[in-house]
Parts: sequence; C-alpha cells; structure tokens
Amino acid sequence: MDGRILGKIVSRITRTLLSAESKNISRIRSSSCHDDPVHVVNLRSDTFTMPTPSMKQAMVTTDLGDDVYGEDPTVNKLQEECAALLGKEAALLVPTGTMVLSHCQGHFQEVLLGDQCHIHLYEVGGMSALAGIHPRSVTNKPDGTLDLAELSRKIRNRYDPHYPWTRVICLENTHNKCGGAVISPDYINQVRQIADANDLVMHLDGARLMNAATALGVPPSHITSQFDSISMCFSKGLSCPVGSILAGSQEFIQRALWARKALGGGMRQAGIIAAPMLIALHEIVPLLKEDHMRARKIAQAVADFGDSSVLTVDMDCVQTNIVMLHVRHSTTSRQMCERLSQVTDEELLALGERIQVQMLPFTDTAVRFVTYQGITDVDTNKTIKKLKYVLAEKARA
Ligand SMILES: *Cc1c(COP(=O)(O)O)cnc(C)c1O
Repeated sequence: MDGRILGKIVSRITRTLLSAESKNISRIRSSSCHDDPVHVVNLRSDTFTMPTPSMKQAMVTTDLGDDVYGEDPTVNKLQEECAALLGKEAALLVPTGTMVLSHCQGHFQEVLLGDQCHIHLYEVGGMSALAGIHPRSVTNKPDGTLDLAELSRKIRNRYDPHYPWTRVICLENTHNKCGGAVISPDYINQVRQIADANDLVMHLDGARLMNAATALGVPPSHITSQFDSISMCFSKGLSCPVGSILAGSQEFIQRALWARKALGGGMRQAGIIAAPMLIALHEIVPLLKEDHMRARKIAQAVADFGDSSVLTVDMDCVQTNIVMLHVRHSTTSRQMCERLSQVTDEELLALGERIQVQMLPFTDTAVRFVTYQGITDVDTNKTIKKLKYVLAEKARA
C-alpha cells in the first residue's frame, strides 16, 4: 500500500479514537446537562493506590540484575529488609501472595482457615487446583478470629486413612471481610498453643499486616513472631503497582522458590518492582495511620446520623482502613452504592457541587469502603457531605 494512503488511514483512525475518548470523558465527568467538574471519591478498594512520584523515580534509577540468578541487588535488598522486619530467616518477592502453597509438601494435606478468609473465598480455589491442598474452614467470628473450640475439634487424626493430614492453621490480619479487623497478639498466642500441641505450622495472611501493626502501635515482628510463615501484599494500602513478600525459614523459602518457578512467577530485572516496595516500607507505612483516621471520620459521620438512618456502622469494628456499613429498611447495598455514585439535580442545587462517592456492595446488606493514600482530607470531607445528603434524602423517602 502507498505510504501516504496508509498515513491518512492511521491519522483518521487516531482522530476517531481520540474524539471517541474525549466523548467518553465528558460522559463520565458530567452526569447531567451542566458541565461542572465532578469530584469522584473512589473508596472501593485500596488496590486503587497509585505509585508515588518517588516510587516511579526509584523504578527508573535503581540497580538491576537477573533475579532468577539471584543477582538483582534491589530485590536482594528488599528481601533482606523484609526478613528482618518480619523477624524471619528469609523472604521472597512474589508477583502475588496467591503463590503461597509451599507449606504442604504434597497432596492429601489440609489447611485449617476461616470460612470468611480471602484465600478461601477469593483465590479460585488455587491451593486445591495447583497444590492438591484441602482447605477446611472454621467459623470466622465477626472480629476476624476463629472459634478455638471448633478449630481444635477440626484437627484430624493423621493416622486415619479417611482423612487428609492437617498441616497448617492460617489466620488473616487485618481481616478484610470482617471490616479490617485487627487480630491481637494474645489471641495469636492461644492459636499457637493449639498448633504446638498438635504439631501444626501457622501461616499468616498478612496482606494488610502493616495496617494491623499500625493499629496496634507495635512493630510487625510482634505480630509475626508466632507464625512460621507470612505473606504480605504491597499493592494494597502500601501503594505499589505490584508485588508481595513471603517470609519464613530458609527451608520454607527454598520450597517457595520452586513453587514460584513452577507457577510462572520467576522474574528477571524484578528490581523495577522491588524498588517501589522499598520506598513503601519507608515512606508509606508511616502514613497508614492517616488512612485509619480518615476511615474513622467517615464512619463516625454515618454513626452520628442516628437510629433512623438506612446505614449503620458499629464503631467498635472500625479499626483500620476498611469499614463495613450495613444497610436496612429494605434498601440493598447495591442501591445504596448506586445512589452514592449519582448526582441528582436537586442535590447539585443543595450542595453546590457534584460529588460521586464509589463504595463496594460487599454482600446484599453490607457496603464496604476503604481509605488509602490518594484519599485526601478534601475527599474525606466531600464524602461526608455526600453521605449526609443521601442519608437525609433516604430518611425523607
Ligand atoms: C489482596 C489480598 C490477598 C492477596 O494479595 P496478593 O496481592 O495476591 O498478594 C490476600 N489476602 C487478603 C486479605 C487480601 O486482601
């Protein structure tokens, strides 16, 4: 084809795409006939954090090598820092914590875990599909802990050929589905006693371990000391684009290396993702307490609305950056979230601005919101303004 014709086609396609995109933007930005900007507050998840400017800078300037050969200096530095921080012999960078399979050394073994925990509910049953591990659930109490009597009861006699061999107890801290609940070191000690009495190991799903440590005001090693292994996610509240850390004994991490390789998780110049993780440890962790304060402030505004409100919140359960609100009076969580993300004409008149608040319908009756770096004091105040308006509107209806 003639180069000029090709050029024209490309430029026409580009123009069409650009104008479609700008139409799209204006549709998103203005929800009625006015053209005022919309203030969008996205509280759906702390996975919406963006890498900070210093993270991006570090990604460009950090020293790199081939991590599959163990020669990426930035990855090695991250792994050493994390092992020390979590009080374990070794740590391993993984693309995602879903790669945690390495405690069980074969099929016919099982892990005891909470029936509301993330790795049981939201990881496509990967542990059974890929590692042949049987997950056996124990009732999660609303505070994120497991019922200890039930936990003990469910440990199986390993010499009975009917049963898989119970190997691992897994806890989650903070607990996502239980509204960011923090599990105390005292409770963890009680579980450890059960584990020791039955020759079991303990794994911590510490995707939000740093939020738990922040809420308790302790170093993370206070929480991790009773666990044999820990996974910790850097792409949630810690603001990194990707990356999790697994920590444990040398032997455990050696097995995890095989599992990571088999699952396609080996990465070459992985310092590019390790560099922002190092920044997160130093620059984001100290800021997590702000996320917790903002979550509390929004929750308090809901609580202050009083008994007639369609939304309720138990302030005792508001401990970190995740909050569960409960809907009632025959409103569903979906309806509530839809209303919060719309702007009506009456509302624009009353508030003088367009505020869209995005929350997540978590169950039919629970709405989840999450604060994170990127949610500012301005966002917090606008969210409260919007909530007050919508709750008053629902109370009138
Ligand atoms: C996100 C999440 C995980 C998995 O995190 P990765 O990003 O896959 O490491 C595990 N547990 C909880 C509670 C989570 O929120």
